[in-house]
Amino acid sequence: MTRAASARKHTGTVGKDYSSYSFWLETAGEDLTPRPALPGPIDCDVAILGAGFSGLWTAYYLLRQDPSLRVVVLEAEIAGFGASGRNGAWVTSGFPVTSGELQRRFGREAARELLIEMRNSVDEIGKVAEAEGIDAQYFRGGQLRVAHGPSQLPAIEKAYRFHQALDLEKDVRLLDAEETADRIRITGAVGALYNPHCATIHPARLARGLARVVERLGGEIFEQTSVIDYEGGTRPKFITDSGEVRAGAVVLAGEAYLSRLSKLHRQVLPIYSLIVLTEPLSEERWDAIGWEGRECVASNRYTVDYRSRTADGRILFGGRGAPYHYGSRIRDEYDLHGPTHEMLRRAGREWFPVLEGTRFTHAWGGPIATPRDWMTTMSYDPAQGVATAHGYTGQGVATANLSGRTLADLILGRRTDITNLPTVNHESRAWEPEPLRWLGARFVQRGLMKVDDRAEKTGKPPTGKTLAERLGSH
Ligand SMILES: Cc1cc2nc3c(=O)[nH]c(=O)nc-3n(C[C@H](O)[C@H](O)[C@H](O)COP(=O)(O)OP(=O)(O)OC[C@H]3O[C@@H](n4cnc5c(N)ncnc54)[C@H](O)[C@@H]3O)c2cc1C
Repeated sequence: MTRAASARKHTGTVGKDYSSYSFWLETAGEDLTPRPALPGPIDCDVAILGAGFSGLWTAYYLLRQDPSLRVVVLEAEIAGFGASGRNGAWVTSGFPVTSGELQRRFGREAARELLIEMRNSVDEIGKVAEAEGIDAQYFRGGQLRVAHGPSQLPAIEKAYRFHQALDLEKDVRLLDAEETADRIRITGAVGALYNPHCATIHPARLARGLARVVERLGGEIFEQTSVIDYEGGTRPKFITDSGEVRAGAVVLAGEAYLSRLSKLHRQVLPIYSLIVLTEPLSEERWDAIGWEGRECVASNRYTVDYRSRTADGRILFGGRGAPYHYGSRIRDEYDLHGPTHEMLRRAGREWFPVLEGTRFTHAWGGPIATPRDWMTTMSYDPAQGVATAHGYTGQGVATANLSGRTLADLILGRRTDITNLPTVNHESRAWEPEPLRWLGARFVQRGLMKVDDRAEKTGKPPTGKTLAERLGSH
């Protein structure tokens, strides 16, 4: 068994071993002892559910703009416990909904503005990390969307055309097989789309560092404090085990875990995203692979497979494929799904045969939140005093920064360029009740896997017309 997978344990009265939830939490460079829980009922200006990127960025921008605010963050576990402390390390300007679909839904200008803000978010994270002294290992290597076999070439060409249609193709380049191999040698790669607007980070160091900065700015973070329910109104509130937190505004920033609140149960679908990690590779292996640019690398499978290179010379392989759980259940044991982790290891060795004999030292996972229309929401209802940011569908590192900036502006009543984006006050319709939800999710998961496998075997691109593709790709 590998670390993170094998080390997961509850240590009785001492609590959970948080370092076992991901390589990132294990190497966060600090003791993960929880901060004190909420001592009792309190009043504040803004109360935030969730100390992941969304909640922490919101707190950060609120306090930067108005240091006099009393901002309180309530976290059920520890800062960075959720997807923010477990992800694939990509800070990507890619948005959960494709640029083509964004244009179709919201028009060219709105799509363009949103994608420009996504690029700004990639820059912003690096700038804040540096300015605030957060050792987030931010590295701007760009992104390679690789055509892994001829069936995937049309997808990268189409993506390039969408960049062109939005006048965003500057610095984005289509690479042929040889140019791709000059950057990274992947078995079966026949081309790639290079996009410079992407970086990598150490996710847990960013989340934990951001939490400390929020405290330095005067914010309060209570860990081991679960919000059980919330109410909007003239004085909105969170209800917790330790009492009520009344505020001028409450912010729901719990991403996949929001589905645990009865009022939001069908708002997002928790889908598990899984990761395996190699040991640090030898120089000979790196010479064989190349990858000096440390780009984030992905193929074009619907079932998502992506790779990143860590600062200490390991390769991280991430992907979907773990099954949706009936009733949108989220449990620690679902982070570990043997067949999916094994598939990721196998794919890793296929991509890089030089990995034969390399140890995979870590395996972990976590839930991502999928809204019914795949569209991220960043909203604030001033009449109810309730704000929320959610629905990143696995592309939330940069997006959560945009959420934080947007929610801070909305709550402070500031009309800015970002408060007009199509994400603002977007409403996705609710997912179907069970058992329809389970049947639909499993059908799409299996269907997309089959479409991907068939395309790879036949060399022919997916038609985009199967029911699974129509229901499950955006
Ligand atoms: C395995 C994996 C790989 C990923 N890879 C990438 C990637 O490479 N790039 C990318 O852009 N995105 C990636 N994502 C998605 C990205 O990490 C998330 O979208 C982003 O971190 C979400 O941040 P968040 O703060 O909204 O949610 P989270 O980080 O999940 O934080 C929510 C927090 O709220 C707390 N909480 C929930 N409910 C309650 C409650 N009732 N009371 C109190 N606290 C509560 C949770 O404990 C948690 O700490 C990945 C996700 C996963 C799981």
